Amino acid sequence: MPSVACRHPIQCIVPPYMVEHMARSADPRIRERALADLARGSAVRAVRAFVQQMPAMMVQASPTGKKHRFIYDAKKKDVLPGKLVRSEGEAKSADPCVNEAYDYSGDTFDFFLELFGRNSLDDAGMALISSVHVGEADGHDRFQPLNNAFWDGSQMAYGDGDGEVFQCFTRSLDVVAHELTHGVQSFTSNLLYRGQSGALNEHFSDVFGILVRQWRRKETAAAASWLIGAEILIPAPTRRGIRDMEHPGTAYVDDPYLGTDPQPAHMKDLYTGPADSGGVHINSGIPNRAFAVCAKLLEGHAWGTAGIIWYEAMLQLSRTSQFKDLAAITAQIAGDRFDAATKRAVKAAWKKVGLS
Ligand SMILES: [Zn+2]
Repeated sequence: MPSVACRHPIQCIVPPYMVEHMARSADPRIRERALADLARGSAVRAVRAFVQQMPAMMVQASPTGKKHRFIYDAKKKDVLPGKLVRSEGEAKSADPCVNEAYDYSGDTFDFFLELFGRNSLDDAGMALISSVHVGEADGHDRFQPLNNAFWDGSQMAYGDGDGEVFQCFTRSLDVVAHELTHGVQSFTSNLLYRGQSGALNEHFSDVFGILVRQWRRKETAAAASWLIGAEILIPAPTRRGIRDMEHPGTAYVDDPYLGTDPQPAHMKDLYTGPADSGGVHINSGIPNRAFAVCAKLLEGHAWGTAGIIWYEAMLQLSRTSQFKDLAAITAQIAGDRFDAATKRAVKAAWKKVGLS
């Protein structure tokens, strides 16, 4: 079945192959939702509505390294951004989704500013705009909670999930940071969202997604979880997250709704088909594993050395860079910026996934 759910340049957290598996579910509620997702790019309509309001949003940019967060409630409709419910400095909301979007976008801003001196996504103080409770039309003039989260080039949008497989998409700090990192990338390497360059785009979002989480929790690479999206899933023994950076292909296994995680952990299993924009969420498992292995070899906090190397690599790569380009550039940065031992660790990590 061809997928249209993530064909447009919106980076959705739930990849098309997970939606396609849900479309084959025996549960009619899950199946019909997924089929509707595949049949329409409902998010496209939402984006168009938003773009018309962009000039007013951009005024909020700040040159001073100060956060400007705006959280909107889309009230289960698909028109973004919705009603403004919490602005920078305002008191907590009674709505946990509003507070999660506020807190986690703030954590992501703080991470990039404190570690890399980056002033918001565009390095020019861009406002962080999030819409929660985003809905999608079901084709019968009714709206369902969006079963996804995405970055649309200007803002974040979070659905509440189907309540069976997914719950509110603001729950995972790594998911929020993943999506916002798509924004950082659009202002840096701007990696083409197809094939290996697209898988690198997904990879960087997972890297900085997990690093924001580990940094916030002060976890070492050895002690930390390398799962992406654990908290957005309704718990079940067959699913632990949507991706496992350390052990790609094991985040969910024989799940009745999601099937089995298709991510490869080595170049010998590289996916070369046309699905998922040439495997952008599939093949990201290969560099993801290299990063996790590298961070553990280097010991300590993953954001300390590996994070610095990967951040500089993200700035240096170009739109069509491939896996081998990232492998070469990270080894070079490791040697130039750190030392020969660091360079050896980076090269050993890439060798582990078949890139040497
Ligand atoms: Zn993504």
